[in-house]
Amino acid sequence: MTDPRRRLPSVDALLATEPFQRLLASRPRMRVLHALRDALEDARGRLADGGGAGGAGGALPDAAGFAREVEARIADEERPSLRRVINATGVVLHTNLGRAPLPDAAVHAIAEIARGYSNLEYDLAQGARGSRYAHCTSLLCALTGAEAALIVNNNAAAVLLVMNELGEGREVIVSRGELVEIGGSFRVPEVIAKSGARLVEVGTTNRTHLSDYESAIGPDTAAILKVHQSNFRQVGFVADVGIAELAELGRKRGLPVVHDLGSGLLPDLTAYGLPPEPRPQESLAAGSDVVTFSGDKLLGGPQAGVILGTKALVEGMRRNPLLRALRVDKLTLAALHATLVLYLDPDRAFEDIPALRAIMANVQELRARAEAFAARLCSRVGARARATVEAARSQIGGGAYPGVELDTFVVSVRPVSCSEAELEARCRAADPPVVARVADGALLLDLRTVRADEEAGLCEIVSRALGA
Ligand SMILES: *Cc1c(COP(=O)(O)O)cnc(C)c1O
Repeated sequence: MTDPRRRLPSVDALLATEPFQRLLASRPRMRVLHALRDALEDARGRLADGGGAGGAGGALPDAAGFAREVEARIADEERPSLRRVINATGVVLHTNLGRAPLPDAAVHAIAEIARGYSNLEYDLAQGARGSRYAHCTSLLCALTGAEAALIVNNNAAAVLLVMNELGEGREVIVSRGELVEIGGSFRVPEVIAKSGARLVEVGTTNRTHLSDYESAIGPDTAAILKVHQSNFRQVGFVADVGIAELAELGRKRGLPVVHDLGSGLLPDLTAYGLPPEPRPQESLAAGSDVVTFSGDKLLGGPQAGVILGTKALVEGMRRNPLLRALRVDKLTLAALHATLVLYLDPDRAFEDIPALRAIMANVQELRARAEAFAARLCSRVGARARATVEAARSQIGGGAYPGVELDTFVVSVRPVSCSEAELEARCRAADPPVVARVADGALLLDLRTVRADEEAGLCEIVSRALGA
C-alpha cells in the first residue's frame, strides 16, 4: 500500500487547473498560495489520522473542492472579527453586544467626520489651534445646567480622572454600600487605588448615615464620592445619604462632592412606570460638584465618559496630564454631539434614540410584531418547528435599572427535528449571527431589540437553521 498522503496533488498541479485559474484572476497569487498550502496541510493531517481510501479521512477533494476551500479560507481571513449581530435577546443595553445601538444621526455624523479632515483641535473662528474638549460642552451644559463639561473615553476613565485630580495622595470618603463592581471589571475600590487617592470606607454594607461621613472627615480628606448602585438593589433594613445632604456637608466642610451616576439618563421615565433613576441635572441641582456617567448606557450614545461640574474643578481636570491617556476620539465626539442634539427635543429623543425607543416600546406593538413574525416563520418552515407568541419579560441591562423587567412578547420557536440548543447554535453561526435566549425547549426571539429592517433577515436565518 502506498502512503495515502502521496495521493495529494501538488501545489503547482492544482494552480494549473481551471478552478484555480479562475480564482487567481480575482485574488492575489500570494494569498491563494498561502491558503492552498494551509488547505493541503490540513488534508495531509486528515489523511495521516487514519484517512486513506475508505478511512475516516474520507475522499480527497478534487481541484474544484480545493478551490472552494481556498476561497472560503480567504473570505474567512477578510471577515472582520468585530461583526454586526442581530440581538434577539430583548436586553436593550447588552454589554457583550456593544451596549447602545447608535441613532442614525450619530451614524451619519461618524461617517462624515471619519471620511476626511475635521476641526477636531482647530478653532475655525480664530484660524488657530483649538481644543477637542470644546465640542460637546455647550450642549451638555445646556441639557444639564452644568457649568462645565469634559468628555473622556468611558465612565471608568471619568472616575479615574476625577479621583486623581481631586484625591491623589489624599483621602476620598465612600460608603461601604457603594463599593460596587460593575460588569467588565470596574470596581470602585480598585479604580480609586489606581487614581492615587486613599479610600476611606464609612458606614456598613446596608446602612450609612450622615454622621458616618462627618466623623471620617479629617485633614487629609480631599472629596466625598457617592456611587450609584447601578446594577443591584438593596432592600430591607437599608439607609444611605442622599446627594443633597452630602452636598450640604461638603459645602460646610469645604469638600467637593462627586456623584458617579453610571447610566446618564436624561429624560424622566417615572411617568412611564419606571422607577426613579438619578439623573445628572438633578444631582447637580441638588448640589453635587462633579457628576460622571457613561455615554453608551441610558444616554443611548457612543462609549464615552462624561464629566460635568464646576468651572474650577473641570478646568483642573482639563489640565491633568492623565487626560491625554484617557482622551476621547473624534468619532466618539461626532456621535455624542449628534445624540445630544436629539435631546433638545424630548419627543425626538424617544423616537430617534434606539435604546430609549426599545425601552419605551409599546407592549401591544411588540405583540403585533411578534405575531406577524411568528406567522411569517410558520409559513416559511412548515412542520419543521412550532412558532408561538408568549408573554415574557425583557431586561434593560447595561447595569441600569436592576430588577426592573419590561413586559414583552416573544416568538417561541420549538424545533421538531433538532434540539433548541442546536437551533440556537446554528443561529449564532449564521451571517449575521443571531443571539437569542433558550428556555424550556424553545428558542425565544424578543423583537424589542430587533430593528424592523432586520426582521426579514432574522426570519430567513431562523428558517435556514431549521433546514427550510
Ligand atoms: C457603568 C458604570 C461605570 C463604568 O462605566 P463605563 O462607561 O462602562 O466605563 C462606573 N460607575 C458606575 C456607577 C456605573 O454604573
